Amino acid sequence: MKIHEYQAKELLKRFGVPTPSGKMVTSAEDAMEAAKGLGNPPYVVKAQIHAGGRGKAGGVKVVQSVEEVKQKASEMLGMILRTHQTGPEGQEVRRLLIEEGVQIEKELYMGLVLDRAKKRVVLMASSEGGMDIEEVAAKSPEKIHKVAIDPVAGLQAYQVRQLIFGMGLPATLVGKATKMCMALYKAYLATDASIVEINPLIITKGGDLLALDAKMNFDDNALFRHDDVNALRDLDEEDPKEIEAKKYDLSYIALDGSVGCMVNGAGLAMATMDIIKSCGGSPANFLDVGGGADAEKVAAAFSIILQDPAVKAVLVNIFGGIMKCDVIAEGVITAAKQLHLKVPVVVRLEGTNVEIGKKMLNESGLALTSADDMLDAAQKVVQLAAQAG
Ligand code: GDP
Ligand code: MN
Repeated sequence: MKIHEYQAKELLKRFGVPTPSGKMVTSAEDAMEAAKGLGNPPYVVKAQIHAGGRGKAGGVKVVQSVEEVKQKASEMLGMILRTHQTGPEGQEVRRLLIEEGVQIEKELYMGLVLDRAKKRVVLMASSEGGMDIEEVAAKSPEKIHKVAIDPVAGLQAYQVRQLIFGMGLPATLVGKATKMCMALYKAYLATDASIVEINPLIITKGGDLLALDAKMNFDDNALFRHDDVNALRDLDEEDPKEIEAKKYDLSYIALDGSVGCMVNGAGLAMATMDIIKSCGGSPANFLDVGGGADAEKVAAAFSIILQDPAVKAVLVNIFGGIMKCDVIAEGVITAAKQLHLKVPVVVRLEGTNVEIGKKMLNESGLALTSADDMLDAAQKVVQLAAQAG
């Protein structure tokens, strides 16, 4: 799960991470009031969306008066912000963060992420922070310094020094930087975060360290034990199809291809996506309806897939083990009739009650293509999607 910058800053502040003063607002009027409360200019007006790259896209403005805050706020609210992380459809700006403007001496980068290969949380830092960090990572990876944290021993002071001196920071900042690293790691662990990223972490003209931006993502599987984090969820920022899928307890992730996939079991779902790719197609989603789905759940899954305008053909690939093929067939038929199915559907069923399931589909009057095995199914669906696309 993702949260907004202003929420991440509030959360990190509780762990002792210094951040600029600021306030979240949803109207231009409130933006001006918030700026008045911050004291002297400059002020910064920052679009709050669940994506980075706002600075380059016009979503971060430094201004010199409260009137300008109001002006910028009214321009930004309601606008569709397109950054390299939002995709071409962009994201509507509904919330703004109004902050005190800070004098920047230098922009650094600091981040924590789980390195699955190392099986460790890794703390990364670079002296080349700011809006071009992706380029730094791609072109001069040696400028990004990393230490892997032992989960039992925790982050050690010597590791922090390694990082700080590796980055070439002055010795006068060691104390502050150590506190910053320790606070970030503590916050990462305590909230079951999956990413904490401060870019830029700045050295101010006054010689302080300050988190000027903050990004936090959380492990969805641990949210049940973090009601406070869960409360920060902003459904406006999430894919409506994924929200709908969560209601039915379906594992659904939207992707950008054209073949809708309805599959049971995560392993079979992955194999299905692979085989679609190897046949030259591209999956529109990952979907695992689960082992114990009933007809209603199958119908919900099917309708979520069909509501995606990018879907040009659907592949239903089910192995009826615990789940029976006739139940799947019932769900597919119900949803297809309700939604006036327009896209071609290829069905590959195998397992318990397969004959009954196939018979139901054949007699349903729906234009379904049946397939004998996975390869046959993938070839057929990729061809149908290409014809429709
Ligand atoms: P992002 O582009 O979405 O990552 O947004 P950031 O919060 O990182 O802001 C982008 C850039 O705006 C930063 O790298 C800074 O250069 C600039 N910026 C943000 N806040 C301030 C501020 O208080 N003062 C000044 N001078 N620049 C700021
Ligand atoms: Mn940033």
